[in-house]
Amino acid sequence: IHRYEKESCRADAPNTSCLSPYLHFGQISPRLLLWASRSATCRPPKFRRKLAWRDLAYWQLCLFPDLPWESLRPAYRADRTHLKAWQKGRTGYPLVDAAMRQLWLTGWMNNYMRHVVASFLIAYLHLPWQEGYRWFQVELHFALTMAGHFHFHLDTLVDADVAIDAMMWQNGGMCGLDHWNFVMHPVSAGLTCDPRGTFARRWCPELAALPDELVHRPWKSPASMLRRAGVTLGVNYPERIITDLEERRAQSLRDVVRVRRNFPQYVDQLSGCDLVPLPQRLVQEALGSGEVADRGGRFLLPLITRMEFKYQTQNPDCRDNPFDAVLKGYVSRKRDEATAFRNERDFAASVLSESVQRRERQEREQRALDGIPRPATGRPGRTPRKDVFSAQGAGFTLLHN
Ligand SMILES: Cc1cc2nc3c(=O)[nH]c(=O)nc-3n(C[C@H](O)[C@H](O)[C@H](O)COP(=O)(O)OP(=O)(O)OC[C@H]3O[C@@H](n4cnc5c(N)ncnc54)[C@H](O)[C@@H]3O)c2cc1C
Repeated sequence: IHRYEKESCRADAPNTSCLSPYLHFGQISPRLLLWASRSATCRPPKFRRKLAWRDLAYWQLCLFPDLPWESLRPAYRADRTHLKAWQKGRTGYPLVDAAMRQLWLTGWMNNYMRHVVASFLIAYLHLPWQEGYRWFQVELHFALTMAGHFHFHLDTLVDADVAIDAMMWQNGGMCGLDHWNFVMHPVSAGLTCDPRGTFARRWCPELAALPDELVHRPWKSPASMLRRAGVTLGVNYPERIITDLEERRAQSLRDVVRVRRNFPQYVDQLSGCDLVPLPQRLVQEALGSGEVADRGGRFLLPLITRMEFKYQTQNPDCRDNPFDAVLKGYVSRKRDEATAFRNERDFAASVLSESVQRRERQEREQRALDGIPRPATGRPGRTPRKDVFSAQGAGFTLLHN
């Protein structure tokens, strides 16, 4: 639990519980885990939250039975190229490739890496989220003769779970109820979760002889170093399938804005939040009658919406969105080491310090948005409680067709 709470993002260390297959197949009960976590020597809020997320996924699937196929909100434009390279771990980005190869060979990928490969598929390759969902759920069937009655099927993921997988892919695809407030950069994420390149080397052994600082970006290596390491890009390790990461991301943001403008009925004009129509069943259960739905009205629920989207919708030509959601080395190796050091000395103080730092980052972003200059000296003032976009309370909206 101790390592989990602070270091669950690491790809190179088994810091999560790996219990999802057992939970999925009903071999262990989430209630049992919840109780067991009470006896942990440090508080386990993150772990418990994950168990709650699991229930949330099942609840969402009950409410929206089409969750695995239909985007809950209008979908963003998507290309169809590069899917095979992503599936086979041949994108030329070692972190993405290592994770996709690990998935194929073992059926496993940790949560952080699932975010990395999903971000890559959606924000950089512009593929539809359903492709990712399908690949994680893909079933390999083996059937024998009629006489033998042997039938066997296998999912790509050992814990492939319709509810959780669909919820996470919808969220990653920016169509779900809770779209992610971040995009993982395929190189910077490597510096965070695999700073010494152990994970990348294990699943992309052709890069094993590259030094730590280049293993996540072999294209930056001088030709002589590549030669010494036995790497020939495009021959024994693929060239990058896309090179203009920044531009691909900017395009993805432009697509989001276009969809938000084309479907203004799904954007709350006061708060700037995305809206999702509530299923009639839920409305009827809540109101005790079918009256509202029968009159052709629909309840739209405002969702927590990425600040980056709100800002870009208001300023479509902006090239420098202060809420850029790409995590660019947000935990540097230096910071990793500092955190590990503080954890060992005083875990509570370390958690406190991390949250203060996070708060300060948010305040800096808020000031940038408000156009308030940086304070010359001393500590910055407190952030106003609400961001500019949520000045108006966002309640239910009733839309009449
Ligand atoms: C794109 C994507 C697809 C995913 N597909 C699946 C899937 O098919 N099946 C699946 O079980 N998990 C899925 N997850 C959620 C998560 O990645 C896995 O549950 C987790 O990696 C399993 O490892 P663990 O048991 O060590 O998790 P821990 O971090 O130790 O968490 C304990 C348990 O909490 C639950 N849990 C953890 N994270 C989540 C989450 N984000 N949402 C809901 N429940 C969660 C799981 O049951 C997990 O076993 C997906 C995540 C992403 C980003």
